[in-house]
Amino acid sequence: MLTYQQARRTVIEQLEKAKGPRATANISIWDALGFVLAEEVKTDRDYPPFHRSTRDGYAVRATEASAGATLRCVGEIKAGDTVAQPLAPRACVQIMTGAAVPDGADAVVMIEHTSRDGDSVRFERAAQPGQNIVPRGSEAQRGKTMLSPGMRLGYAELSLAAQVGRPQLRCANKPRVALLSTGDEVVSVDQQPGAFQIRNSNSVSLAAQVRLAGGEPVLLGNAADRVEDLHAKIERGLKEHALVLSGGVSMGKYDLVETVLKDLGAQFHFDAVAIRPGKPAVFGKCGDTFVFGLPGNPVSTMVTFELFVVPAIDLLNGAPARDLPLVEARLGAALNEKPGLTHFLPARVEWRGATAEVKALPWQGSGDVAALAHANCFLVVPSDRGQVNAGDSVQILLRKDVI
Ligand code: AMP
Ligand code: MG
Repeated sequence: MLTYQQARRTVIEQLEKAKGPRATANISIWDALGFVLAEEVKTDRDYPPFHRSTRDGYAVRATEASAGATLRCVGEIKAGDTVAQPLAPRACVQIMTGAAVPDGADAVVMIEHTSRDGDSVRFERAAQPGQNIVPRGSEAQRGKTMLSPGMRLGYAELSLAAQVGRPQLRCANKPRVALLSTGDEVVSVDQQPGAFQIRNSNSVSLAAQVRLAGGEPVLLGNAADRVEDLHAKIERGLKEHALVLSGGVSMGKYDLVETVLKDLGAQFHFDAVAIRPGKPAVFGKCGDTFVFGLPGNPVSTMVTFELFVVPAIDLLNGAPARDLPLVEARLGAALNEKPGLTHFLPARVEWRGATAEVKALPWQGSGDVAALAHANCFLVVPSDRGQVNAGDSVQILLRKDVI
């Protein structure tokens, strides 16, 4: 059985193998959050475009503004003002944050370090050359590549695109990810379940996870545990870039997903991973569509999605597979888990100063979504370490959607 790291590697290798040209579209920067860039974005001019003052104060020649010196104030420059006149000798000019520093001036002295009497400004401490000025072109020279294909667009990237005058960006079309839950007991969320039925919560969590990962969910609802229904709905799912199924991949008599996928010609790369929850996770390809069969218990579905489907969505977007958000933390209370499998336990991490301290939350196993809804991470208990003591260093997998 593969470890989760090996299984992840397998997913990444298979998707890298299938890499080809991707469809792209122009997306407004107001809508482009979470898209992956498919072009180079260059600066249209130097940044900053002029020597910019970073403080409210006085623009001076540093050599003239020594401690205790007095200079005559000859005017003011607001942000946005056109600055044509060089600074006259033995003079200073009042300047605002974001305004252009005039030629001749090489420092801005904060207003807090001056006193003023009419036109006369007295400097309390010596000005240093360059202080409080960001020189023209120091952030970027005109024509420099600022954003590259494959970059994920977050708020800073979008801000940069706005700064360099790019209201539209060429982005990879989001991969379409078909979502199909399975199970005779499953009813849609707007239906009243019978006494022994449950609502289809997996389609909701999967759609959210697909969106967070940068994909576009395609909702196919639920298939009954019958070959014909599964066959028809899986076939529909195979029209998309990826198909994610929940349920029906365990050893039960009515777990038919693998059988139906096989009938449809799927090639499997793994059908079990040494993790709990999530052991029966399946990954393969059917035609051009990547297929994930995730176990149906809600927390299993969520964990296996984060481990295996997120990197696939990255690569389908033309981005590198992002690393798992694993960090070290100090264990708050001792744990005892069965060795042999890597455990992912719902847990809460809190930062005490620089130290992250994590505690597993009480839970009833992989059906217990309520526990996960109070968790902000998974505590990762490695397969070779059943007993972990309080104070030990452990790894946690962050839930980036809530942290
Ligand atoms: P399975 O993997 O099909 O054996 O299902 C494992 C458990 O997950 C069972 O208790 C199912 O009722 C539950 N389950 C399966 N599909 C869903 C779903 N779409 N939403 C919520 N729970 C589900
Ligand atoms: Mg089932």
